Amino acid sequence: MTSVFIISAPSGSGKSTLVHRLMTEVGGLTFSVSYTTRKPRGQEVDGEAYHFIGRVEFEARRDRGEFLEWAEVFGNYYGTHQDALQIAEKKGLDLVLDIDVQGAAQLRKRIPSAVTIFILAPSREKLEQRLRMRSQDSDEVIRRRLADAAREIQDYSLYDYVLVNEDLNEAAETLKSVVRAERIRRIKVEEKIKPILATFDYQADRKQ
Ligand code: ADP
Ligand code: 5GP
Repeated sequence: MTSVFIISAPSGSGKSTLVHRLMTEVGGLTFSVSYTTRKPRGQEVDGEAYHFIGRVEFEARRDRGEFLEWAEVFGNYYGTHQDALQIAEKKGLDLVLDIDVQGAAQLRKRIPSAVTIFILAPSREKLEQRLRMRSQDSDEVIRRRLADAAREIQDYSLYDYVLVNEDLNEAAETLKSVVRAERIRRIKVEEKIKPILATFDYQADRKQ
């Protein structure tokens, strides 16, 4: 049974860094590559970070019902293709999604068993420092991201887990622990433990 992990965070909280650590350090996971109408940034390669498409194509795919969820974020469309879940299920992998709070709300309804994780920087000051350190955005964009963050963090209460990314290594270990712990929920391991139980003979052992 494929577990679905939804990870959301205001920009600059360290989500990409932590998701990268999760994907490279824990096996059995696959990342959902979203479709977006935003233009590629820096070194982003089509089909890796995102599938980059135009608005007309996005709207056509959306209207055909191809997306499990979609949202408009910072003036661009973003969507999760249903193939992402189907392929994960076929391959027996767990699925990791990096999506915003609107998308998380839609998916929570469609997949109630999805595990949701919200990542937060330890303070506004640290968030600003990290946005500046990343040196990808202009002053104006950084100001807008900080204002958006103040709004986005209000939604933390909709998530199952809230991870404060203070020390990077500690946060990465905690995120990995969440995935590992969710994988041993009784409902997820039922099939695996049946053959173990079958090796025990309750009646015979009681008589001894
Ligand atoms: P997001 O994907 O949430 O926008 P990034 O992963 O790009 O954020 O991180 C923003 C910046 O902060 C990057 O330069 C990253 O190296 C740095 N960063 C991430 N986590 C930490 C941390 N715990 N301590 C210090 N810097 C961090
Ligand atoms: P960025 O453009 O910085 O990569 O992402 C902007 C925001 O869009 C982030 O909050 C990211 O989580 C969100 N996002 C990325 N892909 C999807 C998606 O498929 N659906 C939704 N709803 N949000 C997404």
